[in-house]
Amino acid sequence: MYNRIFNFSPGPAVLPVPVLERARDEMLNYQGCGMSVLEMSHRSHEFEQILSKAEAGLRRIMGIPNDYVVLFLQGGASLQFAMVPQNLFLQDQPVDVLHTGAWTKKAIDDLKKVAAYHIAASTESENFTRLPTSTETTFSQNASYVHICSNNTIFGTQWTTFPDTGEVPLVADMSSDILSRPVDVSQFGLIFAGAQKNIGPAGVTVVIMRPELAERAPQKLSTMLQYRTHIKQQSLYNTPPTFAVYIVGLVLEWIEAEGGLPVITGRNQEKADILYQAIDRTDFYTCPVAKPDRSKMNVICRVAGGDEALEKKFVSEATQASLSSVKGHRSVGGLRFSIYNAQPMAGVEALAEFMRAFEQKYG
Ligand SMILES: *Cc1c(COP(=O)(O)O)cnc(C)c1O
Repeated sequence: MYNRIFNFSPGPAVLPVPVLERARDEMLNYQGCGMSVLEMSHRSHEFEQILSKAEAGLRRIMGIPNDYVVLFLQGGASLQFAMVPQNLFLQDQPVDVLHTGAWTKKAIDDLKKVAAYHIAASTESENFTRLPTSTETTFSQNASYVHICSNNTIFGTQWTTFPDTGEVPLVADMSSDILSRPVDVSQFGLIFAGAQKNIGPAGVTVVIMRPELAERAPQKLSTMLQYRTHIKQQSLYNTPPTFAVYIVGLVLEWIEAEGGLPVITGRNQEKADILYQAIDRTDFYTCPVAKPDRSKMNVICRVAGGDEALEKKFVSEATQASLSSVKGHRSVGGLRFSIYNAQPMAGVEALAEFMRAFEQKYG
């Protein structure tokens, strides 16, 4: 109806059509208030409703315990790489990192500016094609916290169970799989996620945390960089990214209308199964990622053992067939199919069909 293509972009990524339609319908006059959400004061009654509805939706869907706070911040997940250590690092207590790819590398690069750290485990020597096992992991005696990336967007691995860190807070970068499956929030001290993969547009970053962790921050830390500030002002210390928060609220409503995480999780499993089966049924395609660690959000695929010319052809012919953004990240090469919550089943089926036809032509 809208001539939309199937979009496999890793982020910003596909959004549910009903969300886009709703935003379109409400664009000029939001619920009879005579103006657009884009134009309204962040202190207005309407926006306060938008913000509190988004928070309530996230709490319901994720089952966030009452004693956790939910913040809507800016600066992307990348700013969290700086804010987390600046707020949570305790003198003489290293930050433990489970190093699983490009995003934990960026986190390390930033946290080492302000904190001591220890690599508790790393699979770098195997080019991050699998996740570390618990027997390979050595935590510090007294870590400030443990940093983990729940889904490695670039290398295509995803944790299914999280390590038990006991009294030490577990901090998770869930940018690319938040709301894709149920998680036990009480296992984490802090969760952060840039919205533009699975929960909305670029511009807003969700932080879910135990508020007492915010009290670790030195008072001399810049006001905007303290979680304390945003907790106290309920994400309204300064102007929040109002339109992005509004869209996140619509995405949350969409998730609930679809049946919540049980339905979404089942669909994500089905979509991932279709693509991994399309890869595994033939030697023409390969997935370098160890089977138990394969991501249900970002499927990595090589063509003909990593034939770059053929992979280039795949990308260009897929684009012509309205299958957009299937090129792998430059650090990995090959192909990457991002299949977040809003990726329709029809998109995945069309891609699997295209893969079969491409193999027939060139295999
Ligand atoms: C995309 C991504 C980031 C970076 O997010 P920005 O919002 O661009 O800063 C960090 N971590 C993971 C896991 C990501 O997928």
